[in-house]
Amino acid sequence: MTADLIDGKAFATALRGRVGAAVAGIKKQHGLTPGLAVVLVGDDPASEVYVRNKGVATREAGMHSAEFKMPGDVSQDALLAQVRALNEDPSVHGILVQFPMPDHIDQARVIEAIDPLKDVDGLHPVNAGRLMAGLKGLVPCTPLGCVMLIKDRLGDLSGKRALILGRSVLVGKPLALLLLGENCTVTLAHSRTVDVADECRRADILVAAVGRPHFVKGDWIKPGAIVIDVGINRVPAPDKGAGKSRLVGDVDFSAARAGAGAITPVPGGVGPMTIACLLVNTVTAACAQAGVPVPEM
Ligand code: NAP
Repeated sequence: MTADLIDGKAFATALRGRVGAAVAGIKKQHGLTPGLAVVLVGDDPASEVYVRNKGVATREAGMHSAEFKMPGDVSQDALLAQVRALNEDPSVHGILVQFPMPDHIDQARVIEAIDPLKDVDGLHPVNAGRLMAGLKGLVPCTPLGCVMLIKDRLGDLSGKRALILGRSVLVGKPLALLLLGENCTVTLAHSRTVDVADECRRADILVAAVGRPHFVKGDWIKPGAIVIDVGINRVPAPDKGAGKSRLVGDVDFSAARAGAGAITPVPGGVGPMTIACLLVNTVTAACAQAGVPVPEM
């Protein structure tokens, strides 16, 4: 069996198109232009690329986009003051603080300073709590994108065994709650799990969010399973020339492809979905703040 490729890039492009149409609709009907503000501290080149891409995607969808660059030695108080100013700005419906932050910044305090209604990253304890309680709220973008890809492939997920590798607040934990909400039987594996391979072999849905290149081996995958590779790892690629590198996922892609039913590539799988879901969350947040119905996207 050769696994089908799940084209996250194509799915995300289509989703971004639907977000653009939704934005055009709410502008026309309600005079509302959703706005996203991204706060970047320091000059980490990878973060700068992410922030630039988010700005481009936001504008392409017809939304208002603003970037706030702060120096790497900005004080905690100045950063919190910036976040609070954005909380008060009526043209800003979504606030995203790009992580990681420099060591002297307390990330938890920054997240807690964001108005939960504008927390498009879904990381504020209020939104995390709403997800836990099964209430509507803003959900972290990467898990949201994973669930969209899984449901697009499998439809009803009731009774499926889902194994998530990684228990981070950003990916693993919220994804576990979302899949539980879809009536999956969910297992969360982590660095203290005794036999990760055995856990993987029982999964109809396997999601890898570990941050280790090629961690998941081909013979860990149940025949026909759907494999979602969240990992983004930069590894040396001497075949491309001296000093060159490439991005790979957490799954040994070519080995896994031989047994899985469907698999996401890296790049071109989950990554593009994360940005598309950020746009979805910004529209959702804007509608909630304006008291207008959230359009289908
Ligand atoms: P993280 O916070 O570092 O969490 C990694 C998780 O993997 C932890 O729960 C850790 O367990 C677990 N782990 C580490 N070694 C393990 C092992 N040997 N066996 C089993 N579990 C192990 O990472 P993250 O933020 O969730 O990100 C994970 C990966 O996804 C990274 O490559 C990141 O770049 C990528 N990512 C991609 C996107 C996207 O848009 N595609 C978005 C976010 C993240 P413990 O909790 O026990 O330490």
